[in-house]
Amino acid sequence: MALFVHKYGGTSVGTTDKIKAVAKKVAKFRDDGHDIVVVVSAMSGETNRLIGLAQEMQEKPDNREMDVLVSTGEQVTIALLCMALKDLGYDARSYTGGQVRILTDDSHTKARIQEIDVERMKGDLSAGRVVVVAGFQGVDEHGNITTLGRGGSDTTGVALAAALKADECQIYTDVDGVYTTDPRVVDSARRLERITFEEMLEMASLGSKVLQIRSVEFAGKYNVPLRVLSSFEDGPGTLISLDEEAKTMEQAAVSGIAFNRDEAKVSILGVPDAPGVASTVLSAVGDANIEIDVIVQNVAADNTNDITFTVHRNDVDKAKAILEGVALELGAREVSTDAKIAKVSIVGVGMRSHAGVASKMFKALAAENINIQMITTSEIKISVIIDERYLELAVRALHSAFDLDAKSEA
Ligand code: ASP
Ligand code: MG
Repeated sequence: MALFVHKYGGTSVGTTDKIKAVAKKVAKFRDDGHDIVVVVSAMSGETNRLIGLAQEMQEKPDNREMDVLVSTGEQVTIALLCMALKDLGYDARSYTGGQVRILTDDSHTKARIQEIDVERMKGDLSAGRVVVVAGFQGVDEHGNITTLGRGGSDTTGVALAAALKADECQIYTDVDGVYTTDPRVVDSARRLERITFEEMLEMASLGSKVLQIRSVEFAGKYNVPLRVLSSFEDGPGTLISLDEEAKTMEQAAVSGIAFNRDEAKVSILGVPDAPGVASTVLSAVGDANIEIDVIVQNVAADNTNDITFTVHRNDVDKAKAILEGVALELGAREVSTDAKIAKVSIVGVGMRSHAGVASKMFKALAAENINIQMITTSEIKISVIIDERYLELAVRALHSAFDLDAKSEA
């Protein structure tokens, strides 16, 4: 007998029939003798619909009222799910975030959880009830309703699991796990049995948008085993847990290939080769709240430098305008941009103990004649910037170079 927190996302509770199917899934766990706390999202499309209504009222809707509004989506789902459970003959009780007392700070629309009162939930569990909690919401110390940011129900699920010391937090969604790469790009991509928190963070931030990133950070911090699995079909999903456990298995060097088409390259050419120049250039961009990712500086023959970095594509015009100002100030030759780039990364904790991972990566790309424009590495990740045209080819080449293809598993 275990205690599980289940979290069902918007598509899993998108219709009353789907909510009934969720109730059946939960009931099965009850039949097996487990205690269950369920966290649900709003029915799919509902949060967007509510935000749309707000925008009809105010050009920039008031954040406090926005939270009062959007938190209603989840309140609908908790009640409907409890009704469905009762209809199947299971005792259940729904709670809003405020009723549980999920205490957050007062940053409306992006609040952070500070404390969770588990007493009420524990009382229900020991009385044999299923506890159903509205995701994505909490309450500040003055009782104002807050929300945790888009996709925040994942974080509610993990936070409840941490507070209740649950055996596992199971995130039910419309995919059956975390894949070695996007199956739409590589047919032979396969579901990972397990992945570490660290790897998942790298995969998530690079575009495998299965989980809200903050929920993975939270799970890692409190060591809550997290499992991503399908609402619609049975299967083990992917277990996301600590490194130690993964190490007991034969660890491959690379667990997955992530990629990102959202970046653009910005270069400032011919800046003086002198102390403080890179700092001047990059802080001008940073001060405008533009996030910088990969950075490369090369020295030209005439003792000037070229500094190139990547930013989000939405920020490229802004970054260019700022750099043109900086270029005048520093006497740089030119500012140029290129939005037709993509970032491809290999991710794996196994890299720590395997030598030659980078050279294998570069060799695989060279074999396909793909030019590497920029390189950046961390302990468990190597990323390259390449021409956007070759993205899919690069991902496929790396997927097979690192033996990730499904067929090589058999
Ligand atoms: N309903 C919220 C959203 O759409 C929270 C969530 O689904 O996790 O962002
Ligand atoms: Mg969601």
